[in-house]
Amino acid sequence: MKEPVIGITASVFVAEGGPGAGAVRLFAGAEYVAAVARAGGCPVVLPGTGGRERAERHLDAVDGVVLTGGGDVDPWLYGEEPRPGLGRVWPERDEYELALVRATMARGVPVLGICRGLQVVNVALGGTLLQDLAGVAGAVQHWQDAANHVEGHTVTLAAGSLLQRVLGQERLRTNSFHHQAVRKAAPGLTVSAWTADGMVEGLEDEAGLVLAVQWHPEGMADRQPAMLALFAWLVAAARGGGK
Ligand code: MN
Repeated sequence: MKEPVIGITASVFVAEGGPGAGAVRLFAGAEYVAAVARAGGCPVVLPGTGGRERAERHLDAVDGVVLTGGGDVDPWLYGEEPRPGLGRVWPERDEYELALVRATMARGVPVLGICRGLQVVNVALGGTLLQDLAGVAGAVQHWQDAANHVEGHTVTLAAGSLLQRVLGQERLRTNSFHHQAVRKAAPGLTVSAWTADGMVEGLEDEAGLVLAVQWHPEGMADRQPAMLALFAWLVAAARGGGK
């Protein structure tokens, strides 16, 4: 059987200095590509431009989707004014990715949301975000200084959740690189993981087609089988699509 094609959403990088200053680059981190390939998928990068029409067309060509990390979602999309602490937003990426999420659910295409990807899933389906964790009393450290393969905070998994079954454990330590978090989970999504401060670290849908984590499993996938298992779940679900 051919490898399922897994679309990886592109991140945006704007060089601030040097000869390429101001140039916009759409790219995927090599760790996402490597993790998809190691899990048995055929990775392709999806440039997040062209809105709903492009997103729908891209879905004709892929069997599963990884929503990657990146900058903040425009709070206007969940009904809030920007607050101090909001990072850089890139509305074109938001428009494309929100349309992509809605289309995947309409078509039954499986999605693995990572970091920003978890937040995108939540906003696409009607949830809201905390715009900045700085100053939240009692919060654990969600932006670690250590390298991304290093275990940071502890995540507790909801018993019987899809996430818990895929990871095969009830509790694990993950890396963490986010300054925003879920405030209100969207209707239709279940919180499947959290840290000691109550921050949401995992979301999933009832159909078992959306699995989203707030940490970066691609950064740990070559050292921890459980992290690679998230990508293996996506590839297996993408195979089940019958395309
Ligand atoms: Mn975290």
